Amino acid sequence: MAKKTTNPKKEAIRLTKLWQQFGPNTYPLDLDNLVSGAILTSDFSDQLVVDRRRFDSFEGSLVRIRGTRKWTMLLNTQVSNARRRRFTFAHELGHFMCHRELRDKFEDSEESLNDFRDEIETEANIFASWLLMPANLLRGEFHDSIWETTTLQAIGDRFECSLQASALRYVQLSSRPLAFVVSRDGMILWAIKSSSAPYMTSYLFGQELPAGSHAITCYQNGDDGIERQAVGPVWNYTRQAFESQYFDRSGKGYQYTCIEFQ
Ligand SMILES: [Zn+2]
Repeated sequence: MAKKTTNPKKEAIRLTKLWQQFGPNTYPLDLDNLVSGAILTSDFSDQLVVDRRRFDSFEGSLVRIRGTRKWTMLLNTQVSNARRRRFTFAHELGHFMCHRELRDKFEDSEESLNDFRDEIETEANIFASWLLMPANLLRGEFHDSIWETTTLQAIGDRFECSLQASALRYVQLSSRPLAFVVSRDGMILWAIKSSSAPYMTSYLFGQELPAGSHAITCYQNGDDGIERQAVGPVWNYTRQAFESQYFDRSGKGYQYTCIEFQ
């Protein structure tokens, strides 16, 4: 019989309700407080201890103590970016909440934390972004915002989240025709679109940024293109769009493109 995973969105909503109704309900979310207040005091069959130390090989890990229902979450204090450490914490919590029946050990590098193709890693990322950015606050505070990289930065600042996680959450939640593309060296790594956005010509891993897009021009010129710019039907055969660009120079050279269809 296949082992069960638990729906990451459901689990994130369950913890959000606990935090908002019975906890401090403050954001950015205090993950240590959530773990000690909501998880350790509830009727969980499994225990979780958070241990912060220096490690060489991974950013975060979740390990079952052999033969028990006790788990240790290891978080690497050597990662200098506080938002990355926070997201890793939430991601490992996602493995604990959703995947602990599958394996006895999870280990995450920067690559796996940004992997939106692997099902298990995507689920942990969805859990993390739903937990850190609850729908009611995101809708209430950013509902009317223009979809561009400055909005993405503002969401990241408000919830202390990475831009990729902020974009994933905002686009999935929006009723407007939005999309977000992550690329490197002119090639798409992953993309997401809202349910009302049209099918996209360039969307899949390994595809090139489309000819005529603001994204490919910025990449070729090595320029940021933070100002929104109108482009022709390059992301869809009939729909025009607006694009805004950002190059994340802190990490592995990711390029982010916010797209809003007209
Ligand atoms: Zn993981």
